[in-house]
Amino acid sequence: MKRRTFISSAAKAAMLAVPTLMFRNLAWAAKSAYSRMMQMRTYNGISDLGELPYFELTGSGRLRMIVEGLEGGIDGHTHLCLNALAGGTPDLMKRHPKTQYYLPPNINSSLDVYINQNAGAEDKKKMTGVIIDSLTPGGSDVTDTHTIPNLIEEMDRLKIEKAVVLPVRMGIPFGDDMTERYMQAVRSSGQEERFILCGGIEPTLDDALEKIETYNRAGLRGIKLHPNFGRFFPNDKKAWPAYELCGKFDLPVLIHSGRTGFKERKTLGFKLYTEDFADIGNFEEPIAAFPDTRFVLCHSGAMQNEQAIKIAKNNKNVWMDIHGQGVTNIQTMIRELGPERLMYGSDWAFYPEAIMVARLLLATEHDKSARRMIFRDNARRFWKL
Ligand SMILES: [Zn+2]
Repeated sequence: MKRRTFISSAAKAAMLAVPTLMFRNLAWAAKSAYSRMMQMRTYNGISDLGELPYFELTGSGRLRMIVEGLEGGIDGHTHLCLNALAGGTPDLMKRHPKTQYYLPPNINSSLDVYINQNAGAEDKKKMTGVIIDSLTPGGSDVTDTHTIPNLIEEMDRLKIEKAVVLPVRMGIPFGDDMTERYMQAVRSSGQEERFILCGGIEPTLDDALEKIETYNRAGLRGIKLHPNFGRFFPNDKKAWPAYELCGKFDLPVLIHSGRTGFKERKTLGFKLYTEDFADIGNFEEPIAAFPDTRFVLCHSGAMQNEQAIKIAKNNKNVWMDIHGQGVTNIQTMIRELGPERLMYGSDWAFYPEAIMVARLLLATEHDKSARRMIFRDNARRFWKL
């Protein structure tokens, strides 16, 4: 072979080899992220979830859901700015270029653990800082971004048609009017049809019944309770009349349920925030006492999922939002309980929508009927849409 011919064929081979190798490496990298998620169910940052066949990445690096025939989802668990006490009242109609979440989404994560277990000690400390900021003067840059336009932007990308919005009543002396603020904002947004707004009450306070009456009259769709923030036990008999009235008005009671593994600390011998209130053991008594009241166990009992499943099995007036549960637990719930009373939920803006969408889609890869029911149909029936 002449030297020139040799050089030119070597060059040609190199020209072909470089893109081939690049392509192989790219394909290998993509395949490895995808198979890692399918087999080990881990991912490193939200954009990694874009390797799943359910999503594409937008120009700005956000996830868009592209599953054919799946749309009109209902997110059963969202919050707008949770500011209260002296934390001010952020503009709920302001569009922020980037939503900031309570917990950082771009970390090495497993799709198969209770969702907050992915966050490290530092991340959890930061989240506590955000909560404290949102209750103290100056507010929080993070919760400032939890607005109606920011939520809708995310809903649109993930094919979520409607979001159940949950204000939290804290039972504090002032700045505890989250429900009223949400009501005004949703009404003035011109996007009322995108939201299913609930009212937040504390069922053991003297004003509980009056609040339920007012919220029912105002057309709110359900009542949200948070035992840990409100510092009450769901099985406290003082809450009984509230459960009864909700049943009478057919207002579902949505309760934060179960322990999330939060590490408690005592301040001057006092637990400022404790999960003792929302322990799953405190739920069955009121649920069984009011069979005509519909209860939603938010987070499906969190890390006490097994007990939550038992409660739901025993009591037909129980539904669950799947927020926080891993792929295996979602599959277990579908198998043990049936999909009919399970509903999708994201707990926005503690987390982006995409995480729970990914978990639900992976869990129902071989059960498209359950997928559709949990993403949309069950909630439509539940909320009488
Ligand atoms: Zn929540």
